[in-house]
Amino acid sequence: MLDNPHIRNFRCFEDSKACGFELVNLMGGNTCLLKETEARMLLFGFELVRISQNWKGCGVFIKRWPKLLPLLAFLLSSMFSYSQQNVRVLYEKTDIGYDLIVDNDEVIEVSLTFQFVLTNIVSSLAEDEVAVVPAKTFSHKVATLLVIQPYLLNKFSYKYQCYYGNTNLTEFDSTYMYDLPYKKGNVFKVYQGYFGGFSHQNDYAVDFTMPIGTEIVAAREGIVVEVVEKNNRGCADESCVAFNNWVTVFHNDGTYAKYVHLDFKGANVKVGQRVNKGDLIGLSGNTGFSSGPHLHFEVNLPSIRCKNTLPTLFRIGDGSTAEFLQENHFYAKNY
Ligand SMILES: [Zn+2]
Repeated sequence: MLDNPHIRNFRCFEDSKACGFELVNLMGGNTCLLKETEARMLLFGFELVRISQNWKGCGVFIKRWPKLLPLLAFLLSSMFSYSQQNVRVLYEKTDIGYDLIVDNDEVIEVSLTFQFVLTNIVSSLAEDEVAVVPAKTFSHKVATLLVIQPYLLNKFSYKYQCYYGNTNLTEFDSTYMYDLPYKKGNVFKVYQGYFGGFSHQNDYAVDFTMPIGTEIVAAREGIVVEVVEKNNRGCADESCVAFNNWVTVFHNDGTYAKYVHLDFKGANVKVGQRVNKGDLIGLSGNTGFSSGPHLHFEVNLPSIRCKNTLPTLFRIGDGSTAEFLQENHFYAKNY
């Protein structure tokens, strides 16, 4: 059935979580597995000569017909799981080596870092140097992989990490005055503040105690980049962090806010939507790592190191003054 010489032997990984056809890497390194449907696609004459990372740790380099790359990227994107973001990394052969190119189908810029293993190749992008790819940008070249000795064997592989936003950013608007993330007339208590002992040990984050179903509004204008609302459970243990529901809104200074623990199907916004201050984000809940109904709010500066939360000024009372919120204080919104 499969007469492509680079595809052989149906087998499974040791843990049996995935089965597929072995794809032989002609340039050395590991073979990897392709699902049957993916293997069939490869019979349309594409010669696969390079494998690094894609589905289950495999990657695909298409040697022939590089002009078809956007089409191939589109076809392959429906089959391979590249990363959590809608971002794809591909290679293209050139006269001097390879171009490393990125398709960013996200609504904001993304930052990527690479770790290379190179033989007879030098990369224009240094290890852990950040490559920033603008929003909705395709075939964006991030590195030249230059072959040093053209007549000797060359090979390469890489891993990459991808982050929302520009992780090179150091400047942001630290004086911005956020609105409290609930509607006028409400008053809620901050039961855990910055560096709180329950779950904020390393974060500038605030938890507002509020009943499930409370309307959450945008504290600052921006563009919605993440909406997770599929989870319907929570507990007061870190093991439940995987069940968080949240919305992420990017701000025009490059920072982003996260509105966390929203109710099951409680989001009122979609990815790519622009929101103004005060627009309905969704309904609060008690999902994920949560000890009771509340909203967790934090603002981050994009970073490749770890979470990089920021202290944020909130307008309080009638809105004429702003301050950093304190644990165990109640905050009325009368504006
Ligand atoms: Zn919290």
